[in-house]
Amino acid sequence: MPEDRPAPGREARGGRLPVVDPATGEAFAEAPDQSPQELDAVVERARAAWFGWRSDPPARTAALLAAADAVEAARDDLAPLLTREQGKPLAESRAEVARTAARMRYFAALEPGPVPVADGRPVRSELRWRPLGPVAAIVPWNFPLQLASAKFAPALAAGNTVVLKPSPYTPLATRLLASVLSAALPEGVLTVVTGREPLGARLAAHPGIRHVTFTGSAPTGRAVAAGAAATLARVTLELGGNDAALLLDDVDVERIADRLFWAAFRNCGQVCMAVKRVYAPARRYAEVVEALAERAKSAVVGAGLDPRSQLGPLNNAPQLARVEACTARALADGARAAAGGHRLDRPGYFFAPTVLADVPSGSPVVADEQFGPVLPVLPYTGLDDAVAAANATGFGLGGSVWGTDLDRAEAVAGRLECGTAWINHHAELSLAQPFAGTKESGVGVAGGPWGLYGNLQPFVLHRPLEAEAAPEAGGTAWH
Ligand code: NAD
Repeated sequence: MPEDRPAPGREARGGRLPVVDPATGEAFAEAPDQSPQELDAVVERARAAWFGWRSDPPARTAALLAAADAVEAARDDLAPLLTREQGKPLAESRAEVARTAARMRYFAALEPGPVPVADGRPVRSELRWRPLGPVAAIVPWNFPLQLASAKFAPALAAGNTVVLKPSPYTPLATRLLASVLSAALPEGVLTVVTGREPLGARLAAHPGIRHVTFTGSAPTGRAVAAGAAATLARVTLELGGNDAALLLDDVDVERIADRLFWAAFRNCGQVCMAVKRVYAPARRYAEVVEALAERAKSAVVGAGLDPRSQLGPLNNAPQLARVEACTARALADGARAAAGGHRLDRPGYFFAPTVLADVPSGSPVVADEQFGPVLPVLPYTGLDDAVAAANATGFGLGGSVWGTDLDRAEAVAGRLECGTAWINHHAELSLAQPFAGTKESGVGVAGGPWGLYGNLQPFVLHRPLEAEAAPEAGGTAWH
């Protein structure tokens, strides 16, 4: 395990932040709890570094590609540290590191070229793209590296510099990542700050920041937007979800059960776009509950560093308490635990993979985002009722429809109020695809070229075709 030692000259003047291994519940390392003065200095360095970073696109591309190579080369240091602080199985941490490097390569290769915007006047009008300035990236604890890269890779590729704040629950792998990247990136281009609140709030409202890109819960997203309102910095928010999986009556349950189960339970259910509710036709209900419960009972739960583990612990004590409370409430409301229903009697934040049947629809495990290894399965009789129930949430991140008749499934998927809908799978996206929540699931677009443009300012240049040509000759000249 690499020792968590800050780079010389970067020691915190503030306190220290203990980091807990969720597989034991014990603190095993510390990170700096950085002060407001340190934050100011980091933002100032990001501003100073911006002028060089934005001005040489070929050098930027080369640096990002070299940085991606460095991340891949450090996979055997990054992945175990990520598992130790986050809890996920080591194979998933390794995949997360690989995806981080792949994302850097993807964005390094994107070039936002000029776009002609001629309007018929004797003027050459061209839309060009300019970087925004220092970007604040604030991320949660469920995919610390992957979600960080979803922010810093497009921001850096666009020519901005980045101040990255991980969750206080998972600062270590992000700090190590920054030190790996520093071999390829100029000083100040990407800096990690760590600490307790109000560090994130200060960063979101910092006058030196021009774009705040945040992933986390909806209540914190609102606070971030309010903070950024003070400076009118651009805001991108990727927030929570309460994705429904809607099974049609022609679904082949045995064929889809593994995929559906892991779409809900991967990373211990701590995935924004996990399946968080299943709607099954009443006449197939028992079969669906049984298939999912069987898989929940046989899933291997254990420490992420144990290669046999398929599911690790929850990441932190408040999250365990939240999952425990919403499960207990569902059981008190009359639900039946077809599998699990309780925390595991061992140290650490382990909760038994849980499938709940007969849950009243108003119960918090259905109405809110449980963000844990607990899946409510609800019966329906009319398809319109099922679509209405799937849409009866303030969230609008993802959704899926499962059935054999693909045309019918597509027609139903088109009625889901969300940013992404899948048929017969869920929560899979490639780097080139856009990802945008509707309703309270977000503002702005991540992924693909849209993620890059979210980090750029349009700049339009109008130039007459000849020096003496009068631009106003062609028509109106106001907006
Ligand atoms: P959170 O909102 O509590 O924290 C997210 C980040 O914001 C952390 O770094 C935290 O320290 C920081 N923060 C806390 N208060 C802040 C404030 N006032 N101002 C600025 N920053 C502040 O979320 P979490 O519990 O870490 O993560 C779980 C949530 O994230 C879930 O709701 C999940 O659905 C969501 N999430 C969304 C996506 C997505 O892409 N839509 C992806 C992953 C997770």
